Amino acid sequence: MVKIPFVDLKFQHQPIESQIQQAIQDVLKRGDFVLGKALADFEVAFAAASNSQYGVGVASGTDAIALGLQACNIGVGDEVIVPANTFVATLIGVLRAGATPIFVDCDPQTALMDLDAADKLVTPKTKAILPVHLYGQMVSPRKLLEFADTHNVLIFEDAAQAHLAERDGYVAGSVGIGAAFSFYPSKNLGAMGDGGIFLTKDLEIAQKMIRLRNYGASYKYFHTDPGTNSRLDTIQAAILLEKLPYLSQWNSDRLIIAKQYDTELASLAAKGITPIQNHSLQGHVYHLYVVKIDETCSVERQEIQEQLAVAGIQTGIHYPVPCHMQPAFTCLGYQPGDFPHAEKMAKQILSLPMYPGLTSSQVTQIVGNLATIIR
Ligand SMILES: *Cc1c(COP(=O)(O)O)cnc(C)c1O
Repeated sequence: MVKIPFVDLKFQHQPIESQIQQAIQDVLKRGDFVLGKALADFEVAFAAASNSQYGVGVASGTDAIALGLQACNIGVGDEVIVPANTFVATLIGVLRAGATPIFVDCDPQTALMDLDAADKLVTPKTKAILPVHLYGQMVSPRKLLEFADTHNVLIFEDAAQAHLAERDGYVAGSVGIGAAFSFYPSKNLGAMGDGGIFLTKDLEIAQKMIRLRNYGASYKYFHTDPGTNSRLDTIQAAILLEKLPYLSQWNSDRLIIAKQYDTELASLAAKGITPIQNHSLQGHVYHLYVVKIDETCSVERQEIQEQLAVAGIQTGIHYPVPCHMQPAFTCLGYQPGDFPHAEKMAKQILSLPMYPGLTSSQVTQIVGNLATIIR
């Protein structure tokens, strides 16, 4: 039996291995391991690709959120509206910035933050809304900008799953006052270790972020901001710089795979398995391909997942427990039942294998196995 892993990064790396080795070699020769040339080059290139202005590389996506919010002057005493169904790092970033997270439920079809529900959560303390472009699909920039305008709040994007995603004519990371990306290896653009970047079009915010990631120093040994040590390693930036030109192609590959899944899964809709809805197929970068297994399905999710595993097909759940129900954050005072859509989603979702290099016959094999299991 040939196994199908959930992700397989070798298809990205093998064809450009010698290029990557050369890039690493160049860093070795220059010896500028921290805040080196490749970092500056990558920051410019990634900000330009994302239609933003300034990029500031940091140690992780979590730091890009935590320090990024700080750079945007969002912190203690400020409420930030965040989706209940996101990776916990979104929440950790907000808490580390000192701000108060206010959870909002998701749309049951798209799994994206529900902006109508968010409308009702705005208070005089609301400083920002923090959309997560979940699974690679952007929260509508048009609606976000309307929301921000109506309520006079800032937009801060968590684009960790949405490198180069587009919607309403905007690229992910170009909508808000600030945006955070992660380069965790399995993200659409991944480093060979941890990494992240913060994007902004505001020079002053960018300058503050440059200080915050570097001990809060305005210049060496003069510290004007309560910063930390969080820099994207030059070696990681050099690798990312080599990979960046391929990102659009990899995203298109993901889209083709997603379209095939959509087509082949259509016959399972009557049996209770439906993909998470797309606003339109263009612009979605499919970090993950997620289906919902609803109560009409004859087989339970766990059973389906186990049987797929027996057939050699690895799947995931993103995410099994919404943030407001995580044991670490009961102190925030939320209860089960507070966000019915997010909670139901957490019970029903299943992420199928998705990566550039996954073949069309493998997709057919995965859907075929699913069909057999629920027959
Ligand atoms: C991966 C991810 C992060 C955190 O990024 P790290 O680099 O792992 O710290 C934040 N938010 C979302 C939505 C993510 O998927």
